[in-house]
Amino acid sequence: MAIPTTRTKERALVSIDINLCTGCGNCAEVCKDFGLEIRDDKAVLSNNPLFGCVACGHCMAVCPTGAITVTGRFLSQDDLFPLPAKENAAGYSELLHLLQRRRSIREFADRNVDIGLVNQILDAAATAPMGIPPSDVNVNVWLGKEKSRAFAADFSAYLSGMKYMTSPLFLTLMRPFWGKANDEMFRAFVSPLFRVFTDEFAHGNN
Ligand code: SF4
Ligand code: SF4
Repeated sequence: MAIPTTRTKERALVSIDINLCTGCGNCAEVCKDFGLEIRDDKAVLSNNPLFGCVACGHCMAVCPTGAITVTGRFLSQDDLFPLPAKENAAGYSELLHLLQRRRSIREFADRNVDIGLVNQILDAAATAPMGIPPSDVNVNVWLGKEKSRAFAADFSAYLSGMKYMTSPLFLTLMRPFWGKANDEMFRAFVSPLFRVFTDEFAHGNN
């Protein structure tokens, strides 16, 4: 089985059906929270987990007998889905070609994005790998030109309020604290970016 990524702040609940457990150890091996261990040939909750269950769901996904159920943090057994066949997975060349063909031009066409496509992207993103330590991931979706323009206006106002961070005096004062690399990054990248974004926005250009 496979599992999507879920992350929130509270711990998840793990329950183990001892009657179904064969003691194979798969669950304890995949739990990077050290939350599971094998005692007397049965899986049990460990007394020394690292964070508390982060609801990655991997123990539930790899258990061959369905003995583990993880609930909470928006995860349940219903979230399990069949592992796609290996021959359907992208190989090295497919991944390489995907990356080589992509372009990030940061400009937008004057048309709406189909909501079905947005939902497909969100579904795919929800299966992204999970890191340790766990952290929450939020995705904002603005549907329609008006909402993205309103966001751009808010962002421009936010940047305008922080313009002091790009002044020569501020950068000179900060250089001893944040070092040469940050100083160069602010002068060569952040300052021009602030200026062009806020100046153009003031002239009605997004
Ligand atoms: S993976 Fe399932 S069967 Fe194997 S030890 Fe864990 S709970 Fe028991
Ligand atoms: S859901 Fe993840 S963190 Fe929680 S017990 Fe299972 S493998 Fe460990």
